[in-house]
Amino acid sequence: MAKSLISKTEFGIYCAAGDFYIDPHRPVPRAVITHGHADHARAGHGAVLATGETLDIMRIRYGETFAGATQKLTDPIRLGGVDLRLVPAGHVLGSAQVVIEKGGRREVVSGDYSRVANPACAPFEPVPCDLFVTEATFALPVFRHPDPLNEINRLLASVRRFSERAHIVGAYALGKAQRVIMLLRQAGYSEPVYIHGALQALCDYHLSQGIALGDLRPATMETAQARALHGAIIIAPPSAFGSAWVQRFADPVIAFASGWMQIRAHARRRGVELPLVISDHVDWPDVTRTIRQVDPQELWITHGREEALMRWAVLEGRHARPLHLLGYDEEPE
Ligand SMILES: [Zn+2]
Repeated sequence: MAKSLISKTEFGIYCAAGDFYIDPHRPVPRAVITHGHADHARAGHGAVLATGETLDIMRIRYGETFAGATQKLTDPIRLGGVDLRLVPAGHVLGSAQVVIEKGGRREVVSGDYSRVANPACAPFEPVPCDLFVTEATFALPVFRHPDPLNEINRLLASVRRFSERAHIVGAYALGKAQRVIMLLRQAGYSEPVYIHGALQALCDYHLSQGIALGDLRPATMETAQARALHGAIIIAPPSAFGSAWVQRFADPVIAFASGWMQIRAHARRRGVELPLVISDHVDWPDVTRTIRQVDPQELWITHGREEALMRWAVLEGRHARPLHLLGYDEEPE
């Protein structure tokens, strides 16, 4: 097998010929970042190369001085001995796959990705390659994500049925919160949506990028006002559920939007009354379909359920390797 351009190191994936790391979990001189989720995009690197949106998101999360230098990658560039370009990953606003080429060999690090339409980002672009690095967050045959609009319609049915109760939907701040709001609008919901203060900056950023979220109002009101939100939909990050903030609402319906909601035990553990299976990651049918499309001779599998996908790939006649990378959380999802 040809020698690969990338390798696994203690800091994460490294490309020696171009001298850069991809989504390293510790500060490095030069990092290419696939997207703004905290376990991929960390502060403190010497230089960061990423899409303009990912750079903006890192600025919002970490402040102006999150890196020594930044470079917005729009066109392909030559870095050391390799050609480097970013192509859409369909995961969250700004998300990209890293495509590295040298001497006719092409390797793709997908970052996190999804094949389901998401108005916040361009669709995943399959790039045929010799080596493909895939995520495996939901890479078990049991994971089959339902149509997200069906899930949103379940939320709207609950709002109609329990019209005297506020519905608080847990959703992570980057990607999922805006996705829930966009799905509500797509389903024809035109009432104001209330958002927790921790979601404001990233919702504002989506608005600045022309992503329509409709009428958003802050859910930072006093208790008396909060108690009057009968039948309203409120979006909040998971951290808000353990805080005093949630106590302001009288007898709310607690919902949560995540791919993990397919597992009942996860929903129960979080005290979720209305689990909504909405994911920004590939499920089993989509991860296997994608691998067949990009048709790599070699597959590297990272953060998630590596073993099932390993076995599947070997049966397909591909060389597969679990990366067991450190530093990636169970994806905020
Ligand atoms: Zn992610």
